Amino acid sequence: MISLDIAVIGGGVVGGMLTRTLSTRFPNHKIGLFEKESGLGLHTSTRNSAVLHAGFYYASNTVKASLCKDGNKTLTQYCLDHKVNIRKTGKFLVARNAAENERLSQIKKQGDINGVELELMEVDKALKIEKYLKVHDKNFQFLYSPTTSVADNKGLMKSIHEDLKQCQNVQVFTNHKYTELIQNKDQSTQFNVLKMPNQKQMVSCKYFINAGGLYADVIAKQFNYCKNYVIWPFKGSYLINNRQIPEANAIIYPVPPLAGNYFLGIHTTLTTDGHLKIGPSIFPALWREQYNWKDNFVFPEFSQILSLNVKNVISKDMKFYAQSLINELKKINKTYMIKEAKKLTTQLDQIPENKLHEYFDRGKPGIRSQLFDIEKRKMEQDFIFEHDKNSFHLLNVASPGWTCSIPMSEYICDIIQKNNYI
Ligand SMILES: Cc1cc2nc3c(=O)[nH]c(=O)nc-3n(C[C@H](O)[C@H](O)[C@H](O)COP(=O)(O)OP(=O)(O)OC[C@H]3O[C@@H](n4cnc5c(N)ncnc54)[C@H](O)[C@@H]3O)c2cc1C
Repeated sequence: MISLDIAVIGGGVVGGMLTRTLSTRFPNHKIGLFEKESGLGLHTSTRNSAVLHAGFYYASNTVKASLCKDGNKTLTQYCLDHKVNIRKTGKFLVARNAAENERLSQIKKQGDINGVELELMEVDKALKIEKYLKVHDKNFQFLYSPTTSVADNKGLMKSIHEDLKQCQNVQVFTNHKYTELIQNKDQSTQFNVLKMPNQKQMVSCKYFINAGGLYADVIAKQFNYCKNYVIWPFKGSYLINNRQIPEANAIIYPVPPLAGNYFLGIHTTLTTDGHLKIGPSIFPALWREQYNWKDNFVFPEFSQILSLNVKNVISKDMKFYAQSLINELKKINKTYMIKEAKKLTTQLDQIPENKLHEYFDRGKPGIRSQLFDIEKRKMEQDFIFEHDKNSFHLLNVASPGWTCSIPMSEYICDIIQKNNYI
């Protein structure tokens, strides 16, 4: 039996950062972080765009808005302090038509409300900062976010793991998969972990925290939480250049679709080592960790998620979903993704059309742990935290969860302390 004060399940960026914060907030408590894989952050946390978002997209009454601006600042500082590669790119939003050009002012207003630095820029000034911006009309403006940047997501996970090794009161258990709740009594929660490859081990803890990413719903349900929800996984795929192309300074996004649309458009980002990433195209995954056609296949997940997709495509109230899905289907095509990128950047203009696809390979996809409300039949937009004196469940930690990981940890520890859970 492993005996702990606090057990954290899930060693992604969120579970990792949270364990680090718990260690300083509760220095006299014994903390264990359990990760089913052989290392930390092998799922969404290293399969994302690695953009430190500024925080201007989100409605001001959301937890996302309240954490993102601070997350951008604190994660930037963390990367600088810990020598994790970070590239201060800034970000431009490109209007491709008159309606999008108008929407830029609305987004700027939202940014102002959220206290995020943004500038609406005329063409000449914008091109001085990023010469590869695509100009659709010389009278359109660009929206510039100077604080958006990109960082090395693998380097970040390595650094968090190193930090945790230095914490006297923390033990990291990789290759340990949480499997089942044994009992949940007032004084102690007991659960089994599967010590890979095959050995069962029991863990007892006074407080249980679920940061299980794509499996957070499955774990929460065992504690009677997440009752009306299920994770509806969506796969985001990228293209990445395999040979030299002109290098931009900034990352470039389209104007986001109107509120209520589930998917952001294809954008161009940079990796810290100078690669151009195009994507992600978003498509429903048929099981939670379906990175390709056979990896990590779980039949019950497959049948549950397939039926969720079918029901929603055929239901009347989800017409909009079906339409979005059809739009996204086109984006799986490599040529289509490159064409979308060319609406944002002129970096690819010198390469002959018929050669363009040779310049790009498919990158590692990431899967979004999107929470779906089965009763209200809607996708949740904000982070959701469900908790009591025994357990805490982090749900719907989709984008910008990576950016928010440091203030999210403080926010959760505040709730725990305010309620005297520990
Ligand atoms: C395509 C894509 C692009 C994105 N781009 C950005 C971006 O640019 N900027 C941004 O801020 N955010 C972005 N995000 C969102 C961001 O990546 C996530 O919010 C963040 O990584 C979530 O971290 P996590 O720790 O909750 O999840 P994960 O990284 O998935 O970690 C969860 C961990 O729990 C483990 N686990 C699950 N079940 C068990 C179990 N039973 N026992 C033990 N361990 C278990 C898993 O193995 C995994 O390691 C993107 C997401 C996607 C999908």
